[in-house]
Amino acid sequence: MTDQQSPFPPQFGPPFFWGVATSAYQIEGAVGADGRGESIWDRFCTLPGAVRNGESGEIACDFYHRYPEDIELMRELELDAFRFSIAWPRVLPDGRGRVNEAGLDFYERLVDALLEAGIEPWPTLYHWDLPQKLEDAGGWPVRATAEAFAEYAEAVVGRLGDRVAWWTTHNEPRVMSWLGYGDGSFAPGRASGADALAAAHHLLLSHGLAATVIRRDVPGAKVGIALDLTDAVPATDLPADRAAAHAVDGRANRLFLDPIFRGEYPDDLPQPFGGDLDEGDLRTIAAPLDFLGVNYYVRQVVRAPAQVELVVSPQGFTDLLLRLRDDYAPPAIVVTENGTWFGDAVGHDGHVRDPERQAYLAEHVDAVARAVEAGVPVTGYFVWSLLDNFEWNVGYWKRFGLVYVDFPTLRRIPKGSFYWYRDFIARRHRAGAAPPMSAGRSS
Ligand code: BGC
Ligand code: BGC
Repeated sequence: MTDQQSPFPPQFGPPFFWGVATSAYQIEGAVGADGRGESIWDRFCTLPGAVRNGESGEIACDFYHRYPEDIELMRELELDAFRFSIAWPRVLPDGRGRVNEAGLDFYERLVDALLEAGIEPWPTLYHWDLPQKLEDAGGWPVRATAEAFAEYAEAVVGRLGDRVAWWTTHNEPRVMSWLGYGDGSFAPGRASGADALAAAHHLLLSHGLAATVIRRDVPGAKVGIALDLTDAVPATDLPADRAAAHAVDGRANRLFLDPIFRGEYPDDLPQPFGGDLDEGDLRTIAAPLDFLGVNYYVRQVVRAPAQVELVVSPQGFTDLLLRLRDDYAPPAIVVTENGTWFGDAVGHDGHVRDPERQAYLAEHVDAVARAVEAGVPVTGYFVWSLLDNFEWNVGYWKRFGLVYVDFPTLRRIPKGSFYWYRDFIARRHRAGAAPPMSAGRSS
């Protein structure tokens, strides 16, 4: 389905951001450039068996050097916004203390080039690349890491706050806590349930501390957090399946949404530190947001005791958005990631055909339109991702890009879905959805 067959409601018009999303470690490469420090992903990738084929983000898409070429692709897409993340170890190689100006210079060049192209820069402060030095000092399970994050936020907004209005603190604290510290399948590779809960609490606390810094230093800033939320549904109506689905929903969704929107942890889950929490922390975490970022990929169908099947479900997306409105009433929702992977390949004629990705995106955009029609305040949609990239512990195998990357040569080849998205955005713009302006750009 496209917007031609199912006209979008008028609310789906301006201001609405059509964008693409990426993250630093997955695309930048240049891990040793200009004084960047080591991150937990650099270290994790050296551990035997940690990442498929022993791959790493050492070169990735070399976005660090090739970003001008990639901005040309974004220009061709007529993007309103580009979501990227800032690498903490480029800005503070040791995690705290000395600021590496050369690292900030890179993000300043990127932001200026985006603005020059008429594209809103949409940075995320943290997409899982903790400086290794902070992990050596205890990582996210210790409180000092949350305080260090606020210092890092201060350094970044001090440089970019006059040009960037939209700030996302964290990307998917669920993944960082449960996969990084709970089961160890992601960096830093630790496995302890208590550490995962402590990490979740400090990630949330650091979000609140950074939000306060951003609001103080950037007048008119819009602050949000991107959560990977899922629609967890029971496989049957049996009470055991319903309870299992509720438990999955708790760990994935409510553990993060409840403290942010209600200032409390869900009472059906184990509490961080066994519930021995500072009241002040919960108030900091629950500081009002300007937008909730939602990353959605699949629905989870749950069977007791704890069996989860991942199912592509545009309906699950609509249901999730409606539920967020009903249960948490965020002032605005931005779809900060949505997309899918395939084993894309270059055809004999040099083209990359990915009709399945195109169908996935069209159906999910349509699912958003249905939610908007029902009154959910969605104000942006970002495809994950612009480029095929380093897909964490599965290396370069899963390709999520609108643009194919030939990793040996780093050549970019726009896929069929790229042209579909380009034409889709062009139609939306012609229908009157003018690119929104940032507060920073007019100053
Ligand atoms: C998460 C997504 C993830 C997917 C597949 C979902 O629970 O929300 O971020 O990509 O599972 O693992
Ligand atoms: C993450 C991305 C990842 C994507 C696809 C999201 O959960 O934010 O970093 O590449 O899922 O798995």
